[in-house]
Amino acid sequence: MAVKRTPFIAGNWKMNLDHLQAIAFVQKLAWALADAKHDFADAEVAVFPPFTDLRSVQTLVAADSLPLGYGAQDLSAHDSGAYTGEISGAFLAQLDCRYVIIGHSERRQYHGETDADVNAKVLAAHRHGLVPVVCVGETAEDLEAHGPSAVPVAQLRAALEGVDGSKGLVIAYEPVWAIGSGQAATPAQAEQVAAALRGVLGEVLGDEVAQATRVLYGGSVKAANIASFLREPNVDGALVGGASLDIDEFSSIVRFKKHVGA
Ligand code: PEP
Repeated sequence: MAVKRTPFIAGNWKMNLDHLQAIAFVQKLAWALADAKHDFADAEVAVFPPFTDLRSVQTLVAADSLPLGYGAQDLSAHDSGAYTGEISGAFLAQLDCRYVIIGHSERRQYHGETDADVNAKVLAAHRHGLVPVVCVGETAEDLEAHGPSAVPVAQLRAALEGVDGSKGLVIAYEPVWAIGSGQAATPAQAEQVAAALRGVLGEVLGDEVAQATRVLYGGSVKAANIASFLREPNVDGALVGGASLDIDEFSSIVRFKKHVGA
């Protein structure tokens, strides 16, 4: 029997919006979705603010019982100790984060994160009850040399080493060439890689986990193209960068079903 996966729209703010701006943004986003009578059974929503915003977001979400999830953009592979500048998953759990992004291509590219680092961070997230949003994706050079699936598939295999699938995870397929470029993958390209990633989930973690795990597409997602991705059977939502900073655009993406007539 086919498993129903609730679509997931995740907004990666990157290094944008301080804690005061975050409070205003989250409040307005919640109002916009409430005004539009968004049904959260159609799409779960989470934002990923900078670390320094998380306490403010937690306070607002808890005080107003907002139906929005949130998480961090990274965490340490270690739980505590002499790791200057690092943030433990234990601290994120204390802030009621549900999710944490791991292995974003900007972390891999600018901070030298390896597949082994990503795997260690996935295990750390699980130790603290966080759901990792594991990012994989090929560069334009990888695409040219190996085609679309080879690199993301290898990255996912490495990320899943020793992982207990029952602890929950989300996969984000983000072709690096599509991030922030305005040049999204085609829905057919996204589907091809998402299906291959689900195949890896099945091989490594079993069919039940593979069917239950949401595989997102990320890379220049906008209100105008979200519906075409979500029509694909293996694409279960989107990781949104630039467009997640615009309340009207992001709430249109979240409301893809009614707004875009999908
Ligand atoms: C991202 O960085 O995760 C991303 C998908 O960015 P954008 O939507 O701006 O392409």
